[in-house]
Amino acid sequence: LLQLQINEKGTDKYVLIPVATIGCGKTTVALTLASLYGWGHVQNDDVSSKSGKFRTFSNRISQAFSEHDVVIVDRNNHQFRERQQLFEAMDLMADANGYDMHYIGLDFLPNGPAQKEWEVTLSRVMNRGDNHQTIRNMDRPAVEAIMKGFRGRYQPITVAKEPDSNFELVIDVNCARGSKDNVTAVVSALNDAYDMDLETKPEELNAAFSAALEHKAKIPVG
Ligand code: GDP
Ligand code: MG
Repeated sequence: LLQLQINEKGTDKYVLIPVATIGCGKTTVALTLASLYGWGHVQNDDVSSKSGKFRTFSNRISQAFSEHDVVIVDRNNHQFRERQQLFEAMDLMADANGYDMHYIGLDFLPNGPAQKEWEVTLSRVMNRGDNHQTIRNMDRPAVEAIMKGFRGRYQPITVAKEPDSNFELVIDVNCARGSKDNVTAVVSALNDAYDMDLETKPEELNAAFSAALEHKAKIPVG
């Protein structure tokens, strides 16, 4: 396992924030990176409570930052409102803990929710079947309706204005390209921007990626 040495104080914290819709490969990319580098990975879909859902999610993010310098905040964040909510919560967390935050966007839809992206994500979600925390035991029209809802509400990353001006770096991880290439894209962008010195050995990447593709979601019981 490669351990990141960011600086002597260890106050630099890096958060990877996907901007995506369902089936873009957020969880697959996150699982692969977390396995390769020991990063934190917090999944919104693992929060089963309906009330106080964001509070629980942001508490888990804070917990993850107490253990990791790099954390992936796995939810769609497809609207300005959601990104704003995350930046605000993490700014508060940073103030309380003396962290220097680096907000990094993972842009899974750099061309917007276009036809190709729709076909890729729909086919993946259909193949995923019931292997998901919440999208399960549904017929195809119901799944398509949920996915179309996200597409319809999607607001592209717009770094010229708030809230997206908080992004220090935005990495192109077009979902149509495939998740393994997107893992590599994240690693090279971080190495270039922050001198992180992350290594990727092809065998390790292949093993971590295969395991991520075979991952079974933890379905809440009851
Ligand atoms: P999320 O909804 O954005 O978290 O998407 P997931 O990471 O769950 O990916 C959706 C489905 O597509 C899952 O069953 C993944 O195993 C699968 N998947 C993700 N990336 C790829 C890829 O690059 N190639 C293939 N063939 N399947 C993928
Ligand atoms: Mg997911």
